[in-house]
Amino acid sequence: MNALTNKAKAVDRRPMTWLERIYLWNIAKGMAITLRHFFKKKATIKYPEEKRPFSPVFRGTQVLNRDEEGRERCTACGLCAVACPAEAITMEAAERKPGEEHLYREEKYAARYEINMLRCIFCGLCEEACPKDAIYLSETFAPANYQRKGFIYGKPELLIPDPKTQPEEYAKAKGQH
Ligand code: SF4
Ligand code: SF4
Repeated sequence: MNALTNKAKAVDRRPMTWLERIYLWNIAKGMAITLRHFFKKKATIKYPEEKRPFSPVFRGTQVLNRDEEGRERCTACGLCAVACPAEAITMEAAERKPGEEHLYREEKYAARYEINMLRCIFCGLCEEACPKDAIYLSETFAPANYQRKGFIYGKPELLIPDPKTQPEEYAKAKGQH
């Protein structure tokens, strides 16, 4: 039968020589290959000490944004939850009380805001849907966790530090340090 391509290799069925039977030659050949790789540029990095730069279009964990005065921007309109194809976002709205103007920018705010990171596909549609610039996808990713409930991120995990009271943490979260 004619071969369709010339990729076929004939199997060498000759009996093994004494040198081949003791495998030393093959072990030496294998060691030489290993040794050669010692001096090649490594494809792996020593994470977490060493980190690869992210692509400019990388989409990581969500951050709930504050304005320049440190007030929460989210007005709990629910547009991000509606836009989310994975139905990963849930929230509860509350009304801002007199005296809370320094905490919340709008009259309505998210008393509870949760993202199920096990559902999230990091598509970025929540960021695009938000009319208040209140949520964006950062350059960090959700760390590993042993518990499923550890992947339900609430406001303590999502809300960016206050630029007025925690300027260093805020700058770090913004990637400025
Ligand atoms: S990134 Fe996409 S999947 Fe994740 S919460 Fe936002 S809209 Fe939903
Ligand atoms: S993050 Fe934006 S879109 Fe989502 S509820 Fe808050 S203001 Fe609305």
